[in-house]
Amino acid sequence: MKIAVLPGDGIGKEIIAETLKVLGRLGLKFEFEEAPVGGAGYAASGHPLPQETLALAKQADAILFGAVGDPKYDNLESAKRPEQAILGLRKALELFANLRPAQVYEELADASSLRAEVVAGLDILIVRELTGDIYFGEPKGIRAHASGGREGFDTMRYSEAEIRRIARVAFEAARKRSRKVCSVDKANVLETSRLWREVVTQEAKQFGDIALSHMYVDNCAMQLVRNPKQFDVIVTGNLFGDILSDEASMLTGSIGMLPSASLDANNKGLYEPIHGSAPDIAGKGIANPLATILSAALMLRHSLNQGAAAQRLEGAVKKTLRDGFRTADIYTAGKRKVSTAEMASAVAERL
Ligand code: NAD
Repeated sequence: MKIAVLPGDGIGKEIIAETLKVLGRLGLKFEFEEAPVGGAGYAASGHPLPQETLALAKQADAILFGAVGDPKYDNLESAKRPEQAILGLRKALELFANLRPAQVYEELADASSLRAEVVAGLDILIVRELTGDIYFGEPKGIRAHASGGREGFDTMRYSEAEIRRIARVAFEAARKRSRKVCSVDKANVLETSRLWREVVTQEAKQFGDIALSHMYVDNCAMQLVRNPKQFDVIVTGNLFGDILSDEASMLTGSIGMLPSASLDANNKGLYEPIHGSAPDIAGKGIANPLATILSAALMLRHSLNQGAAAQRLEGAVKKTLRDGFRTADIYTAGKRKVSTAEMASAVAERL
């Protein structure tokens, strides 16, 4: 099992190092190969996604990714900024399906900014389309405006085929859960969303056992904090999914708890925590490594066909939380406050 390891920037390096330590305890044969990406890629070769890094990602069975982003490079032209690396990898590897589970561990219900009874037992899966929409649509740019000054513009765009394939991923995922899918769009205003709703509805006819509902994105943003447990699988486009999945992350208490998988049509994938490089805490040894460790569990399950190992790893994370270990972001009084390395060691011991 060859894994491309791309730590990236900021806390990316710390959480990936700890995750490799934990994976090493599983007793499986991995071949890890590391390469620079993001700001580290730019520093090494003048591009956030160096050719060698992309080649490694293409060859590997799966990619374990930390985070990219470094304030030092905030003024670079857009194509050279660290964040371009992740967009480049998604595009080059056709990673069109982003799975973002948001689960509230019983032990962390108090860490949520919502009342514990609103979130306790929450288990939702956001399926976000990842390679289309306004992030990739052309034309885009900043140009002179007829009335003087400048204007910025982007293009929201989805083809029927793109909508159909992400809808299918969501329906199939729902079959392994409670068979409920809510498709989120803005069909009252956007043409792109009107097509989205039409195609998702058509595709649902192939999945007679799935209950499909539709919701406008503004309402969904509200419902996620009002009564999040009404949802099971949410399927949505790139822009709406970006925002809703960050919102959903806070239901769980910390962005430091949430893993993600980005898959191609053959289940090859890139696995990363949903958070960024957190420059405010980088180098302090206090970042929560659990989102990355749980991303490694998704990797075992979806790309490496090691479902039993994935379950062991998730079980060890649960036990670690039950035993009271907490990094600063999920700390509540009476628990044991630990560093990044201590948290990972606690998980490794429980394996
Ligand atoms: P961020 O997710 O890095 O941080 C947001 C807040 O959450 C910060 O206060 C941070 O300290 C905290 N946080 C994040 N991860 C944590 C963890 N594991 N443990 C404890 N606390 C954690 O988002 P941001 O500050 O908006 O962005 C910082 C940089 O990361 C930017 O350059 C941004 O572009 C980049 N970014 C990258 C990705 C990615 O690599 N996929 C995703 C989002 C943001």
